[in-house]
Amino acid sequence: MRNEMIFNESLKYMPGGVNSPVRAFKGLNINPPVLKKGKGQFVYDEDGKKYVDYVGAWGPMILGHCDEEVLEFVKQTLENSIAFGAPTELELKLASLVCETIGVDMIRFVNSGTEATMSAVRLARGYTNRSLIVKFMGCYHGHYDGFLVSAGSGVLTQGIPGSSGVPLDSIKNTIIAEYNDIEGIKKIFESYGDDIACVLVEPIAGNMGVVPSKREFLMELRRLCTNYGAILIFDEVMTGFRVAYKGAREIYGVEADIVTLGKIIGGGLPCGAYAGRREIMENLSPIGPVYQAGTMSGNPVVMAAGYATLKKIYDSKKSFYDRLEKTGLLLEESLRKVLNKKGLPHVINRAGSMLTVFFTTQDRVENYSHAKKCNINIYNKFAEEMIKMGNYVSPSQFEALFISIKHTEEDIEKFVEDLDKINF
Ligand SMILES: *Cc1c(COP(=O)(O)O)cnc(C)c1O
Repeated sequence: MRNEMIFNESLKYMPGGVNSPVRAFKGLNINPPVLKKGKGQFVYDEDGKKYVDYVGAWGPMILGHCDEEVLEFVKQTLENSIAFGAPTELELKLASLVCETIGVDMIRFVNSGTEATMSAVRLARGYTNRSLIVKFMGCYHGHYDGFLVSAGSGVLTQGIPGSSGVPLDSIKNTIIAEYNDIEGIKKIFESYGDDIACVLVEPIAGNMGVVPSKREFLMELRRLCTNYGAILIFDEVMTGFRVAYKGAREIYGVEADIVTLGKIIGGGLPCGAYAGRREIMENLSPIGPVYQAGTMSGNPVVMAAGYATLKKIYDSKKSFYDRLEKTGLLLEESLRKVLNKKGLPHVINRAGSMLTVFFTTQDRVENYSHAKKCNINIYNKFAEEMIKMGNYVSPSQFEALFISIKHTEEDIEKFVEDLDKINF
């Protein structure tokens, strides 16, 4: 049992045995499989057990694991360079590809989604010369102090830090609002509108489970930001290149001032980015007063993986997202059929190839309060049994299942057959 051995040893050297908390399978009665290899839609653990992968490295593996073209371009790049900390043509290739295909003027690459959102907020504050930021309950934007606020609906300075080690001072400029609540956000702007630097939102939330926003809600955010001179930031770290090539902006037809990207943009290597109009982006150092830097930013190998991934998606754009939608819809419908047959009350939220099944008697899940009311015990049982049977799903209710371009009807068939065997 190499899995057990390696994980138990890891517990000695890394807190919880992991480098990011969700990987520890807290709440499940099984240890996380220690993964060794991935190919296409499959991953393999240290004991050689094979799983259909519905985590996809939490989003980036949209082409499936070890795509040949991505691997080839990364290998070629490695022969010339691992790092320079200097301008490279690869940066330009990825920057121009992204800017031209998603319709933004300029981009800055960083090393993670967290860095992208915290830098975007700094840019918005610098640009507007204001301090307040609005974030929504249940939206996750990385682990920057100012975003780690759990409660305090709509009330300034009364938020409670969502983590130990976050001083009240760090969150006193963060206003928390309810997702999809138009009246709530209007009231916040009526009270604080002239001091709000930016509204930060996942246009399709993926970090309370999948919870799409309502179009009128996003349109209202757009309207309020424009009227009050605040910056609208769409955090598309998860949804960018995932729900559509241009992300949720494409689906809703609502524009943001700054978009943050991550996950898929690095093809699985550490990468994040923020992008927007020239007039805003030119406030960044070295040409503007807003400081932001990174020794590793724009690393050539990372740029190569990102470029090869995005180029491949872009070149097959229509058929690519059609296929993801088809597989996603099949998973949704098959899931619903089995759960109905078993008499298990549930809500399935899906945006293309990302999906969450909430076990609940509520008829919809539209915000964090709804999501929190779901039966976590049933979800944990679902995750545990599915993983044991070789379907590698998220160990947490508040994450999505991701489908790659490599997933097939047979994979989905296995998924629902296995689900049918569970005794809830
Ligand atoms: C994953 C995620 C982040 C954080 O990105 P990291 O690379 O983990 O720092 C931020 N925002 C959203 C919407 C995410 O899904």
